[in-house]
Amino acid sequence: MKYSRMLIPTIKEIPADAEIPSHQLMIRAGLIRKLASGTYTYLPTGFRCLRKVTEIVRDEMNKAGAQEILMPAIQPIELWQKTGRDVDYGETMAKFTDRHGRVNVLAPTAEEVVTFVGANEINSYKQLPINIYQISFKFRDEFRPRFGVLRSREFIMKDSYSFHATAESLEETYRLMYDTYCKIFKRCGLDYVIVEAEAGEMGGSGSHQFTIPCENGEDMIVYTKDGKYAANIEKAAVDAVEKDPPLAGQPSLTEVSTPNAGTIEDVCKFMKTKPNKMIKTIIYSAGNEDQPKQTVAVLVRGDHEVNPEKLTQALNGIHTVLADEATIEKVTSAKVGFSGPVGLAGNVDKIFIDHSVAAMQVAVAGANKTDCHVKGVVPGRDFPLEGDNIEITDIRNAVEGDTYQGKKLLFKRGIEVGQVFKLGTKYSSKMGAKFLDENGKEQICTMGCYGIGINRIIASAIEAGCDKNGIIWPITIAPFEVMITSIGDDEEITSVAQKIHDGLEAAGIEVLWDDRDARGGVKFKDADLIGIPLRVTIGKRSIADGNVEIKLRSESDSSKVDIAGAAEKIIEMVKAMKAELYP
Ligand code: ATP
Ligand code: MG
Repeated sequence: MKYSRMLIPTIKEIPADAEIPSHQLMIRAGLIRKLASGTYTYLPTGFRCLRKVTEIVRDEMNKAGAQEILMPAIQPIELWQKTGRDVDYGETMAKFTDRHGRVNVLAPTAEEVVTFVGANEINSYKQLPINIYQISFKFRDEFRPRFGVLRSREFIMKDSYSFHATAESLEETYRLMYDTYCKIFKRCGLDYVIVEAEAGEMGGSGSHQFTIPCENGEDMIVYTKDGKYAANIEKAAVDAVEKDPPLAGQPSLTEVSTPNAGTIEDVCKFMKTKPNKMIKTIIYSAGNEDQPKQTVAVLVRGDHEVNPEKLTQALNGIHTVLADEATIEKVTSAKVGFSGPVGLAGNVDKIFIDHSVAAMQVAVAGANKTDCHVKGVVPGRDFPLEGDNIEITDIRNAVEGDTYQGKKLLFKRGIEVGQVFKLGTKYSSKMGAKFLDENGKEQICTMGCYGIGINRIIASAIEAGCDKNGIIWPITIAPFEVMITSIGDDEEITSVAQKIHDGLEAAGIEVLWDDRDARGGVKFKDADLIGIPLRVTIGKRSIADGNVEIKLRSESDSSKVDIAGAAEKIIEMVKAMKAELYP
């Protein structure tokens, strides 16, 4: 393929709105162009990468016995109301009302639709297990689309769904998908980490996330040094901390006027204390139309954050939102910012107390009175640690210094590229996906689901593989495998370049020949920016010596090979590089 015939609009300058390397480089290398917030056009080289990732995913899914289907992007809201996820997805779900007044959802995922298919088409245990998948556009009206295609409003997802007669059968397919994901990410040239994850909106009983460690990742991976434990921050469990040493005397509970000091920082300044000496009291509302409304209070230390996933788990899957001002004022008799644990238990349906709060001997807290805090609060004395509606539990995010099972927890950032879930019967029971077992008895299907972000694979490969000059592609997902850079338009140079180009193409190698009428410096800069793994340079001097120069994008040294044997040598190198990722 001749560069001069292709649309590869490279850019020197770093785009002003691109914060991280992968976003900057995807634009600068001419892979993508932004249309509007969170929506991108893939230009020819970008699309080639996308297609290669898609083909790897498709090939491995097919090898694992999954069958490809295609489901509609336009889904009736009624399906989502059946599972209650219209509420759970909230504003992230893009909707439109059609000309007949019907509300439609633009697919953020497809559990509801696939379970509808399963409910209609699966009747007998003989059809099970079955694993079906699609590779299609998904739409999410993300609160903050950013980092280019890493968090966009429209993206391509491979989503698969399995139906089973038994939990054991789900376990088998879950394992198979887990192994398939390992193969997919390895083939894409990614160094991935697998972490335990919370099922989140999906629901269900078990989940793993596939994450690419890198500085700019939005996810936090929590792990132990020995590699025996790795979870994402939503899931990461922490040991209960030891009780603080006892105090010399009993402090007295004293009210302190703290006008307008409604944040932890304000109160610390005012009362000359530290966040870890404070108790933060956060009020939530739980439940929706189907479930009774509840008011829930959570107590964590001032330097800790409530973990919403742990809260949902603690409430047996019931979703919570921060309580509105009116609710807070009703249960605490104070304005927002002054909630505290003293006298609260009788006014809320449930209180969750984090282990680290129960371990405190004395604390500062909100006074449940506007513009007031209390000091000398002794847990167990000034507010109960036991009771019908009180539970001490692990309800916060892990932080530096925490341990799990006695081992120190370490932290690193990463990008989630895929996730697998054991759904159980969450969707099938609500949507009537049933089958007749061997005894002719009606049973509910057990399900699993498995997602991969195709676009995110590309961005995270760049995030994990680039330098100051540009992208360094893994060969399996690069837009081309080999780049020929011919310097000058000498007839001999052109004829050698053409010959090597044709030889490579005939061997099925994807080759981009930079035949442009441009200076060597410009061509080398673009070659580094675009990042094709193997570059062949053909210039006057090397030709005079009977050589061409071969250089890997990932290395700084180059080597010379004689013109006659060049194509063969390059073919061999490409094969070896591919075999490393896909033996
Ligand atoms: P996140 O936590 O990053 O919002 P998610 O857990 O909601 O993602 P899933 O529902 O598990 O995402 O979707 C499967 C895959 O789709 C993810 O692993 C990710 O690779 C990809 N994906 C999800 N949201 C986006 C997005 N806004 N832009 C690009 N890819 C996405
Ligand atoms: Mg996910």
